[in-house]
Amino acid sequence: MKKRIVVTGAGGFIGHHLVKRLKADGNWVRGVDIKNTEYEASPADEFDVLDLRKTENCLLATRGGIDEVYNLAADMGGIGYITSNHADISRNNILINAHMLEAARQNAVKRFLFSSSACVYNQAMQKNPDVKPLKEEDAYPADPEPGYGWEKLFAEELCRYYYKDFAFETRIVRFHNVYGPLGTYDGGKEKAPAAISRKVALCDDPGEIEVWGDGEQTRSFMYVDDCVEGLNRIMASNYRDALNLGTDELVTINGLVDMVSKIAGKKVNKKHNLTGPQGVRGRNSDNTLLHKVLGWEPSIKLEQGLKPTYKWIASRVQTGAGKSLVMAD
Ligand code: NAD
Repeated sequence: MKKRIVVTGAGGFIGHHLVKRLKADGNWVRGVDIKNTEYEASPADEFDVLDLRKTENCLLATRGGIDEVYNLAADMGGIGYITSNHADISRNNILINAHMLEAARQNAVKRFLFSSSACVYNQAMQKNPDVKPLKEEDAYPADPEPGYGWEKLFAEELCRYYYKDFAFETRIVRFHNVYGPLGTYDGGKEKAPAAISRKVALCDDPGEIEVWGDGEQTRSFMYVDDCVEGLNRIMASNYRDALNLGTDELVTINGLVDMVSKIAGKKVNKKHNLTGPQGVRGRNSDNTLLHKVLGWEPSIKLEQGLKPTYKWIASRVQTGAGKSLVMAD
């Protein structure tokens, strides 16, 4: 049945892909963001440019008999950005999430999904590149990423309080690094797969790129199509507590550079910047609970998803569409 759905952060990477999917499925969609989409027009039925740090704008965003809200709006970026903007990120996102939850409740929205992050996990459990995959319960005792991780963890709690006190239906998704075409690839907010794709696309053959840290830090990466599929399924499920949404295909950053170089057909030397920010030493997703709840988990292999991602970024930088050449991971 056709639903009336609001996607916040619809001008951003995941939000834009989600709007496309929800429209393709026949829903009525209102996209909301503080800015318009950057790389292609949004297919949303309505697109409201609103600053969701303000309570009156959150009431506007959720007006008019809405079935579901996917709350993806957030001040966020790659590891360089989130480690150097603790105060701004925390203040902005606490305001967005608290006001969006309350506005959605006041406007009698039926379901609210909050996009959390693997940055909520206890840092002490992520000190080894050969990390044990993180189960949902590993967020406590709490010692998350400063700033971004703490505000995400608190907003998760807020969702639980809203269900407990008001029976307001909330869903909580903990994304592990998402990548794909139409994501930020320059300017300082880009994440590792996009930053590495851009650097490889711009470097000579043979050439050299800078990699932050010794490159032996590990992560798992989820292609955006899997992310959107998972979001739909989690929203439709009856599970109210936090769920990982990521792959468990662990790769080192050096391995990621090698994969992108292979796709580009270039010989790329890595110049390690040992003072560059690199976040936790290792992080992977345990999908046991996700699989139990949904009977599904992300399955697109990194090498498969990197091909269209690299192709899109390379076409942008080679035609000079990039805004800047700022180096960041
Ligand atoms: P993104 O930066 O591309 O999108 C976020 C959007 O939120 C942006 O378009 C931004 O303009 C908008 N926004 C920021 N402040 C706003 C405000 N005050 N009012 C209205 N809109 C505002 O990021 P994304 O990768 O699409 O991430 C979407 C969500 O997923 C975020 O909540 C993020 O924290 C979470 N997440 C993403 C990843 C990932 O790997 N991409 C990992 C973990 C969690």
